[in-house]
Amino acid sequence: MSTAIIDENQINGLLNEAGNATKEEINAIVEKAKECNGLSLGEAAKLLQIEDQSLLENLFEAARWIKHKIYGKRIVIFTPLYSSSACSNNCLYCGFRAANKEMERKTLNLEEIRQETRAIEKEGHKRILLVCGEDRKNTDIDHITGAVKAIYEAGDIRRINVNAAPMSVADFKKLKRAGIGTYQIFQETYHRESYKKMHPTGLKADYDYRLTAVERALEAGIDDYGIGVLLGLYDYRFDVLATLMHAEYMEKQYGIGPHTISIPRLRPAPGAAIEKAPNPVSDQDFKKITAIYRLAVPYTGIILSTRESEEVRNDVLNLGVSQISAGSKTSPGGHDKKNAKASQFETSDERSLDQMLTVICKQGHLPSFCTACYRTNRTGKAFMDLVKDIDINDLCQLNALLTFKENLMDFASEETVDTGEIIIRESLEEMADPGARAKIEAALLAIEKGQRDLFR
Ligand code: SAM
Ligand code: SF4
Repeated sequence: MSTAIIDENQINGLLNEAGNATKEEINAIVEKAKECNGLSLGEAAKLLQIEDQSLLENLFEAARWIKHKIYGKRIVIFTPLYSSSACSNNCLYCGFRAANKEMERKTLNLEEIRQETRAIEKEGHKRILLVCGEDRKNTDIDHITGAVKAIYEAGDIRRINVNAAPMSVADFKKLKRAGIGTYQIFQETYHRESYKKMHPTGLKADYDYRLTAVERALEAGIDDYGIGVLLGLYDYRFDVLATLMHAEYMEKQYGIGPHTISIPRLRPAPGAAIEKAPNPVSDQDFKKITAIYRLAVPYTGIILSTRESEEVRNDVLNLGVSQISAGSKTSPGGHDKKNAKASQFETSDERSLDQMLTVICKQGHLPSFCTACYRTNRTGKAFMDLVKDIDINDLCQLNALLTFKENLMDFASEETVDTGEIIIRESLEEMADPGARAKIEAALLAIEKGQRDLFR
């Protein structure tokens, strides 16, 4: 079944051919991408071979342009909550791997999850990505659905996405019933031989079961799913093209492409079996990859994590990214108890959410804590149809303004309030429709007077 999904020969063939592309051809592909209809695999392969600086600048410029056209200024913000470091797999690159006996294992109980959620809320977040290792005893579906329930119960978190091991349709149905937003799973590498080397034992050794997880999620009714590869494991050109091939397959087969693509790059992890990436990805290539995803799948969210340094994040924010994590901790209880010793891998950008908000605003973006689509059933195909047919800018801009305003009222430092209010004012001034602007201004005033959770 999976050869029909990922055809390694086809990928290698496309990459070989792509090496001969001329500058004119590349520029024409970049120009055509601005129509926001995506790229064929052959076109993406050609962009993946770019090394020339001026061609790269054109690519970056197009990625910025497309992001702005589809998503406007908004950047959606979330943070991960690690519920457990228990894991029976042995992924060579990960600090949670079973063979790492130095790791202090911890599975949060429900009260600890609520506590961690409250610590996250105090930082100002509204969206959580729930993450855990894969362990039959400690992190089965009941652990995950229990955690989702505990997070929602703890207070005002409004959307929970989940990054967890592949499961059966029956378990995905339970996950759906728990009320999650997006189910996220990274194939790590689509290159079978490298996958085998990196995942020698445990349930995760089954490449095909992982590859088909998002199909089972869809079958269970979870129509927002996220994919990605762990950059650095295998040649990034192959893996990026394979990610796009996977997306294309899902779109053709089920009419629903991925809601998000993540761009995690391998980081040092205490207790990992490999010290460095087998196929390191340079900062320049990382930027190129981000921009190519934006051109290739223009309507898909691109997620940037705190695995990247401040400098890289500041840059990549302008290359088509639409969602970022902030203030992340990669250990269970890390927000509440700050236990860095039990981390899955080292984060790089250590800036707090509040500091990140200032940076985002200073760059001219509008931070968003919006969770409206998921709560108004605008998910999966419905969401894709909506963004394809109407200007989602309007809706998202509105929800971004309202949720960011809440953050400024409830959590932000003086500096963030100052820079944030400038962005809010500029965004209002840019609105073409005076009627819509007046309505948003009224809603912002209502938030100033104490109303919360306004969305459309
Ligand atoms: N355990 C589940 C799994 O592996 O699918 C889900 C959670 S796992 C903690 C989330 C992701 O972390 C993995 O899919 C992998 O891509 C990423 N990861 C693991 N080790 C990493 C490292 N050293 N640097 C960066 N990302 C890493
Ligand atoms: Fe376990 Fe996931 Fe880490 Fe692999 S990446 S060792 S499955 S937590």
